[in-house]
Amino acid sequence: MPVLVNDNLVAQPGTQSTANVIGGFPIVGSAADRIPLRYLYDWRNMSYFIWKEPIHVKVIYAETHRQHYPPFEILEGGEKVPMFESPDRMDIILAALDQAGWAEIVAPRDFGLAPILAVHDAEYVDFLQHGFADWQVEGGQLKQQARDVLMGTTFPPRRWQHKPTSVGGRIGYYTFDLSCPIVAGTFPAALDAAQCALTGAQALLDGAPATFALCRPPGHHAGRDFAGGYCYLNNASIAAQFLANQARTAVLDIDYHAGNGTEDIFYHSADVLTISLHANPNRQYPYFVGAADETGEGVGRGYHRNFPLPAAMDDDAYCATLANALQLIRNFAPHYLVLSFGADIFAGDPLGDLAITTAGFGQIGALIENLGLPTLVVMEGGYNIGELGVNTVALLSAFAQRETVGQ
Ligand SMILES: [Zn+2]
Repeated sequence: MPVLVNDNLVAQPGTQSTANVIGGFPIVGSAADRIPLRYLYDWRNMSYFIWKEPIHVKVIYAETHRQHYPPFEILEGGEKVPMFESPDRMDIILAALDQAGWAEIVAPRDFGLAPILAVHDAEYVDFLQHGFADWQVEGGQLKQQARDVLMGTTFPPRRWQHKPTSVGGRIGYYTFDLSCPIVAGTFPAALDAAQCALTGAQALLDGAPATFALCRPPGHHAGRDFAGGYCYLNNASIAAQFLANQARTAVLDIDYHAGNGTEDIFYHSADVLTISLHANPNRQYPYFVGAADETGEGVGRGYHRNFPLPAAMDDDAYCATLANALQLIRNFAPHYLVLSFGADIFAGDPLGDLAITTAGFGQIGALIENLGLPTLVVMEGGYNIGELGVNTVALLSAFAQRETVGQ
């Protein structure tokens, strides 16, 4: 019977004098110093054990996000408030990851624009890239106004199909709300966030069991040709398409808000199974997308599922619904999983109304990790600055352990 020793070498029991015995099996070397996180033992057959030991997880992160920090957003009722989606979010997560000890922070590689244009409209990406500079030249309705923050105020109703060429028209055409202002640094930040997700995806293709793309700005509200909800490029969808080019891939979105952008991108596609658990859009942003009867169209029919959730849902009820979603993923039998992770399901989130606890994040992570799939976790929302770090680490910790099975 082999056991794990230092550096994961396999040895026969009893071959080292430092062997300890836990549950009847010897654990030698540094492994003896670790508390097994999960340990199963068949006492009758004395033939089976499992434990989990800590491993390093690559966290892909770029400082470029700091260039994107619009000074305000406008909430319902016209209230002008500081952006909830702030650079502080990344700092609190990085601090918690540092404390956790298993995170290996790495910079993104540059995959260019091609994998981004595989899911986004080229003219839309061009607008994200050049719209702010165009606005400096062209100006808006008031030529003398300050030009620090480009934000739409006019949006096309259904059936108004004319695509404008003015920057004032295009900002409305390519956005669907007031929570995606564009500043000078928005495109570089969004581009690097996408590259973080792609770097994480490439790590899975190279054999990593799990990676975490610490993306900012987030992405799951960005559709094929529109921005909204703090999102510009859909990092998770870009990574999912990149993975799906190689092997079957599923996207699971557990952000508090419906992943309307991801739904838009893959709604007519059978390449990627997309599943979203989120607050019922009948009561919550983004309001118009995310109902249970939206299941895909054309060849994509049956490849999208929404699980609208009631307010105040607790850990147990959430995990029961999540189990149903995970069964759909098992049935699809993907090679890779992309997890759009939003911590705004937390009970104390200022933008949410669910009742998930920090312990619940751990349960949710364990359930998803138990799929046994190479998993790219992509950061989406989460706005309780005080608890954002611990909640993110609680979820990711499930992926920071390697399950070891011996016979
Ligand atoms: Zn959210």
